[in-house]
Amino acid sequence: MEQHTDKLAADFILTGASRLVTAAPGTHPSADGALGVITRGALAAHAGRIVWIGPENQLAAHVALDGLPKDAWLDAGGRAVLPGFVDSHTHFVFAGDRAEEFQLRHAGVSYEELAARGGGILNTVRATRSASAHKLEVIAREHLRGFLIHGTTTVEGKTGYGLDLETEARCLDVMHTLATAPADMPRIVPTFLGAHTIPPEYRDTPDGRARYVDLVCEEMLPDFAGRARFCDVFCERTAFTVPETRRILERARDLGYQLKLHANQLGPSGGAGLAAALGATSADHLDFASDDEMDALARAGVVGTLLPGCSFSLSIPYPAARRLYAAGVPVALATDFNPGTSYSENMQMMIALAVSAMGMTLDQALVAATHGGARALAMEDEVGSLEVGKRCDLIVLSTADERHLAYHFGVNLVARTVVGGVPCAP
Ligand SMILES: [Zn+2]
Repeated sequence: MEQHTDKLAADFILTGASRLVTAAPGTHPSADGALGVITRGALAAHAGRIVWIGPENQLAAHVALDGLPKDAWLDAGGRAVLPGFVDSHTHFVFAGDRAEEFQLRHAGVSYEELAARGGGILNTVRATRSASAHKLEVIAREHLRGFLIHGTTTVEGKTGYGLDLETEARCLDVMHTLATAPADMPRIVPTFLGAHTIPPEYRDTPDGRARYVDLVCEEMLPDFAGRARFCDVFCERTAFTVPETRRILERARDLGYQLKLHANQLGPSGGAGLAAALGATSADHLDFASDDEMDALARAGVVGTLLPGCSFSLSIPYPAARRLYAAGVPVALATDFNPGTSYSENMQMMIALAVSAMGMTLDQALVAATHGGARALAMEDEVGSLEVGKRCDLIVLSTADERHLAYHFGVNLVARTVVGGVPCAP
């Protein structure tokens, strides 16, 4: 007589994976190499979480398969399966685009010159302030669809194009509405980035900067506590100084936010050192971080988030990924999806750039785009790798070999995206 009672209950079964990339080496006896690959692997999930993972020929011995409906099965058809990408740094809530600015910049006009003319971030601030919540939601939903079809299953999203209490709140509301949408969405992690730049109405008076930092600290941060998981500050010569950044982030920390920084993107801002001193979850960009700052980040366990889409789009040098690895800084890769300096939802493109332009190995790039991103959101217990107990967020590629992700570049190699055990896209 068969003993079904010992077997695990499941409502989602994945079979037919030529290579099941767990991104969790050492967690399973069959998982090989730096990516923890299970050859001819299978996986079972229940209520959105992985309950079993291993070689397909062992599936039936562990998981109750009898009577499962046909739509509970997903056949990878001999192709590679990976954890969904975790894009830990994006600005996906905004209105308008900056195609004209892109064209001018590549015709020789500098980013700083464009900003001085009222272009750059302020261009998007104007468009976002004048957009209704509904309009912002429609646009954001389209972007999220773009993330999903390119394999991203968790996406961080920043405010920062409102720069006033009302519009910053509206952008957070949009993220919350989309996060509770029934299906076909990546997971959304909201970040408050009110300190993205000084708003135009605060620029013409000598005490304007100080008054805006007061507004962020005394009104916005308390108002948004609990609604945004992270607080981020653009710490840069053209944005917020180290003392201003420290004041905002210390206030945020007291109110229960986790911390992030845009640090050392355009120059040696001191932001990376501050990220280490404050024990931020991540320091992002790091194009101009010194060796001392890298060591400090490593000691503090701060994730270094690299954003090669910016370098590509701005035609500037790429961040020194190898120095981060040498210093022992945990590395994440993200798109920095935004309308000004990196207009791409595609993590596959970032992996290709990491390998071809930044000297990262393919294994490093794949881990940075999955497990690394999860660490940069302090969500590594939930997402970023395929392990029992974690969310069943995965992608089926259109190829049997995950190495094609960097090698066969500029095209979408994701055939199927699954979020919480539910196939969502295409
Ligand atoms: Zn950014």
